[in-house]
Amino acid sequence: MDKEILKILRKQRYAIVGRHSGVKPCHWLRESLLRNRTCYKQKFYGIESHRCLQMTTAINHCTQNCLFCWRYQGFTETSITEPDDPVFILDESIKAQRVFLTGYKGDPRVDRKKWEEANEPKHIACSLTGEPTLYPRLGEFFEEAHKRGMTTFLVTNGTNPDALMNLDTPPTQLYVSVTSPNEEVYKKLNRPIIKDGWERLQKTLEILPSIGTRTVIRHTLVKGWNMDEKFIPEYAKLIEKAEPLFVEPKAYMFVGYSRKRLSIANMPSFDEVREFARKLSEETGYYYLDESRDSRVVLLGRKKGDTKIIR
Ligand code: SF4
Repeated sequence: MDKEILKILRKQRYAIVGRHSGVKPCHWLRESLLRNRTCYKQKFYGIESHRCLQMTTAINHCTQNCLFCWRYQGFTETSITEPDDPVFILDESIKAQRVFLTGYKGDPRVDRKKWEEANEPKHIACSLTGEPTLYPRLGEFFEEAHKRGMTTFLVTNGTNPDALMNLDTPPTQLYVSVTSPNEEVYKKLNRPIIKDGWERLQKTLEILPSIGTRTVIRHTLVKGWNMDEKFIPEYAKLIEKAEPLFVEPKAYMFVGYSRKRLSIANMPSFDEVREFARKLSEETGYYYLDESRDSRVVLLGRKKGDTKIIR
């Protein structure tokens, strides 16, 4: 990896793992330890925030340069030529999380039992930054995590359908980001580095029902860009194609390097996310199952009885 990008990543407090992976404890891990406040994933799916490990297997690699991304995009790579061993990545990621947690040992605000649990993460959120499916051994990585009794969430931008089709072990829950209603918006907002990004995303949506795991469509909503009411029917068509179990409309957050490309006015309020979700629910027939004001996210589900909680 380029020395300059390494410096930037370290400054952003990423722990670099091996040649292409990274860990960064999420805001909600800290909130859970210090103030018992938890992330929407705990509310929606039962994922305990203090036992969640946020990481990526492709820290500087992606097929897009989205305007709303918090990543520094000056050195974006599109492939991983020397993939690290999945067991190594998992072991080193857990170690990096533990190093972070040492800062909270003995803190009077942190419950000792909770701190000990946090040292044994139970969940991998493979979503931090970059496009994790560019790591060619991702299925083995999930297999190893599941063997250790961990659950796994993967967030993909959908431009690597072949990698998804070839995953021997899929994640516990698979998210596909659908952040543009059509190709015109896609080209301007997601700024693909590859030629056929939109076509590849369509292919991912087509194969999604056959992947054999819990599936979610994530709409990251950027005010003034992709959440106008006129886009609802187009989003509904994409959802119809992918038949996800859940849909999560979620606000773009004005953080990281996205602040250099967008303004705070592009960050929708929770009420605006809710309004979008209500309209999408009416258009698709998906039920309004839950919401989290703090995370500015709504959960829509295909059936009322769908199990939200992961067991
Ligand atoms: S796909 Fe994800 S990692 Fe890649 S540029 Fe977009 S938001 Fe950033």
